[in-house]
Amino acid sequence: MKTSPIAYDLYEYITSTESDPPRELPEPDVYVLTSDGLRIPAHSSILASASAVFESIIEQPRKNRSSERVIRILGVPQDAVVSFVRFLYSSRCEEEQLELYGIHLLALSHVYLVPQLKQKCVKNLGQRLTSENVVDVLQLAKLCDAPDLYLKCLKLVSTHFKAVEATEGWKFLQDHDPHLELDILQFIDEDEMRKKKSRKHREAQSLFLQLSEAMECLQHICTEGCTSVGPHDMVPGKKKGPCSKFSTCQGIQQLINHFATCKKRVNGGCLRCKRMWQLLRLHSSICEQSDSCKVPLCRQFKLKILQEKKKDDLRWKLLVKKVVSAKTISSLSLTKRRKEEDQREKLGLRGYRL
Ligand SMILES: [Zn+2]
Ligand SMILES: [Zn+2]
Ligand SMILES: [Zn+2]
Repeated sequence: MKTSPIAYDLYEYITSTESDPPRELPEPDVYVLTSDGLRIPAHSSILASASAVFESIIEQPRKNRSSERVIRILGVPQDAVVSFVRFLYSSRCEEEQLELYGIHLLALSHVYLVPQLKQKCVKNLGQRLTSENVVDVLQLAKLCDAPDLYLKCLKLVSTHFKAVEATEGWKFLQDHDPHLELDILQFIDEDEMRKKKSRKHREAQSLFLQLSEAMECLQHICTEGCTSVGPHDMVPGKKKGPCSKFSTCQGIQQLINHFATCKKRVNGGCLRCKRMWQLLRLHSSICEQSDSCKVPLCRQFKLKILQEKKKDDLRWKLLVKKVVSAKTISSLSLTKRRKEEDQREKLGLRGYRL
């Protein structure tokens, strides 16, 4: 049996970092024994105060009082055990040690109930996740009841599944833990559905926003006039330059020109006319002006609804509502984005994605 030279270095470490002048420690009264046969001298009072599990081990009655007390920590590399004992003494763990033995230290801190060390390990492992190590960390996170780390692993597996699938870790998991494999695959499935759903939502939102902009342009063309089309009592201003939403305005002006001259018309099955017709109807549903509105057919659509005493159907109503709210939502998220930008600028993080 060898006694750890590191153990003496341990006291030096503790006394040099913990307090000044150095703390006087009594003679060690317990040994921590590793799988490799390393004996780390330690103090039962310190181990007991740092971990409830050690406390109960130490409080167990001993058969032979004269024999020396030994606590076995097996199945982990000896240097990981040394780092662990160091933490119990000093509440500190160097980054390098976390990088080398993060997985073992997480297991030890979980088994021996040392929450501060567990927190450090979870944070460090979470920052160093790769496609290569993620399956190992995921399994450990599940065993050690570290839900945040577990979720982080699941997300990484989901986004880099092709790479993860090719690792030894994944093959091992498939052979040894089909239940966990199923959990992971289910998460990926749900994750994809969530992403699809939010993509669909974004697409729909952008369509409503386009329609909302088209409504603004239509009103502006019919009230103030844009480059080639204007209200009937006004000559379209050739002098006027393109307006601020000209990309949309231009398309709508072309559509209006077409609508005025098309021979096929809506009933003849002209798709462009049909689109114009829908835009005009949408405008009329949104428009709050009564007789003063200069948008063509605005009044007629309103009258038609009144005369027929027919309520607009539900889907149409929903569309109108969404077009109206699209602008508010977009300006709200714009404000939110601007606020985040400001925050980043304050933190000197401009140009980085958080
Ligand atoms: Zn315009
Ligand atoms: Zn047409
Ligand atoms: Zn109107």
